[in-house]
Amino acid sequence: MKTNDNHLSFDVCIIGSGPAGIIVALEYCRLNPYITVLLIEYGKGDQSTESALDSSINLTNIINHHLPQECTNKGLGGTSATWGGRCVMYDDIDFIDRPILNGGCTWDSTLFEEVKSHAPIAAQYFECGKSEFNLSAIPGLQHTTIAEGFKQGIVTDSTIERYSMPTRFGKRYEEDIKAQKNLTLLQGFEARDFSAPDNNNKIESLTIREVATKVEKKIAADTFILAAGAQESTRTLLRNPQLFKNLDSVPQALGKYYQGHLSGKIASVKFYGDPKKTDYSFTREADGAYIRRRFQFSSNFLKDNNLLNTAIWLDNPLYFDPKHRSGPMSFMYMAMITPVLGKKLAPPAIAHSITKGKVIGLSAHVGNIVKGLPNSLIKPATIFYKRYCVKRKLPGIFLYSPKNTYALHFHAEQIPFAGNCMKLGGDGETLTINYSVTDADVSSVIKLHDVLDKWLRDCGCGELEYWFNKNELPAAIKNMTKDGLHQSGTTRISNTADTGVVDKNLKVWGTSNVYVCSSSVFPTSGQANPTFFLGAVAVRLANYLTDIQKIKKIKTNQEHDEAAVLTLQK
Ligand SMILES: Cc1cc2nc3c(=O)[nH]c(=O)nc-3n(C[C@H](O)[C@H](O)[C@H](O)COP(=O)(O)OP(=O)(O)OC[C@H]3O[C@@H](n4cnc5c(N)ncnc54)[C@H](O)[C@@H]3O)c2cc1C
Repeated sequence: MKTNDNHLSFDVCIIGSGPAGIIVALEYCRLNPYITVLLIEYGKGDQSTESALDSSINLTNIINHHLPQECTNKGLGGTSATWGGRCVMYDDIDFIDRPILNGGCTWDSTLFEEVKSHAPIAAQYFECGKSEFNLSAIPGLQHTTIAEGFKQGIVTDSTIERYSMPTRFGKRYEEDIKAQKNLTLLQGFEARDFSAPDNNNKIESLTIREVATKVEKKIAADTFILAAGAQESTRTLLRNPQLFKNLDSVPQALGKYYQGHLSGKIASVKFYGDPKKTDYSFTREADGAYIRRRFQFSSNFLKDNNLLNTAIWLDNPLYFDPKHRSGPMSFMYMAMITPVLGKKLAPPAIAHSITKGKVIGLSAHVGNIVKGLPNSLIKPATIFYKRYCVKRKLPGIFLYSPKNTYALHFHAEQIPFAGNCMKLGGDGETLTINYSVTDADVSSVIKLHDVLDKWLRDCGCGELEYWFNKNELPAAIKNMTKDGLHQSGTTRISNTADTGVVDKNLKVWGTSNVYVCSSSVFPTSGQANPTFFLGAVAVRLANYLTDIQKIKKIKTNQEHDEAAVLTLQK
């Protein structure tokens, strides 16, 4: 509903059009066709140019955090423009408090069960097949193992990751957004300032600013949903302390407990059995979706041993080190470090995870390529076709090892640590990000490798070979791990404003009508890449707001009926 050019009025206003904003917008609009919804997006047109949002970020640690322009994208579809499409489910343990989390697990299993019930619809948006994340429930794959001799127990090989196309939400859903009559998309505008809450905690309006001209408009809405990505949702709340004027103070958790994942490789696994029986790569389901298994640890084991949730999967050796002697790997490494070509093949953060930013051993790499001909060229050409020329892309490249030896890649939970935080500068614009990994994070990664090693040996399945001396491992992990892509924790869910920023329904404490739909509300990071779970959270929010809408309608009808009865009685 339009009031005038500089003062617009809608029932619902959603800020940010990444996966979270698009899912909540489309789901809510479909469920409520007569309610008007505005979707505001900062970016417009070319997403590759660095924005003022990126250049106003001050990173205190660039060893462990990617540069701002590598962490998010602006424009319709948000960061799904460059994401890898790995869809992973959170685990039971992520909702169970453990001493190692220092009281940081401020959500609970009831919420997990509720969110999971929305996973099937989320899976449709992500185009990642069914919302099933364990092989035990997938016919035909139930009794398979990762390698000969493996047994299930405190270590499991049956949890899986699924892969999206990867779906670029902007391109994929642009037409659906246009076709939705009650949905208006406004691109090139930045959400800036909310009005202060009235006595009923209601926020009346939001000021938005055109990025190109700095001209401001006011948006009035009954409900506001902040879905601007973790970093920008947090920055917007930090810039608007008046939102909390009806509380004693701004929630202490706002901007704190910033988490990502520890990620890297410190060991290889040598399996003892038949190399041909090792499940080292992807499986394709009947609907075409790619899935892949990984090692994880049982919730009870993690809880009893006070450890952090961690996934470990089979990987290739380090690309940059020519000692792998693989012609195809050397060819792909050389392509990735070639200046213009490398940028076209993968977004910077993903390219870095392959090359580690190193340009070394070039003549040895050329030697590998020559020795491996013609496979050094045929294999990359096949992979190139599958990764870039078909609709459902091959999600990654995992090469067979005739020696049955694979590098192991860990992806681990971080403790919610108050020192990892986002702070707004005095100019109201600069966001300083403090991010590092703690000794507890690192020590859990090492312990779980030891657990996996012992488990594989006990099964007679295999053993780990560490790449570093034991005493070098902590420093090695601290130097190799780098995130900033899986941002969470900074507006966390909790039952009180003393320990969190939003309630379990994502409503900002101190307000009656502002919600945050972002992985910033996740108090714990688990082992899971956050976006799939966020999609399910977005579907849940759309349903929750629909229920509220229904209750409002019933109340209004009752009030009308009561008024009509009173009039008749008069
Ligand atoms: C290289 C890379 C690989 C990744 N791979 C994976 C993966 O494999 N699996 C996975 O789960 N996750 C992955 N991620 C993370 C994933 O992309 C994010 O979790 C996801 O995009 C978050 O969705 P979102 O909608 O919350 O935010 P975003 O996708 O960041 O979208 C937020 C949108 O809000 C807009 N916005 C910001 N501020 C404002 C404002 N003030 N006013 C108006 N609009 C605003 C932005 O322009 C943006 O378009 C990856 C990320 C990167 C960078």
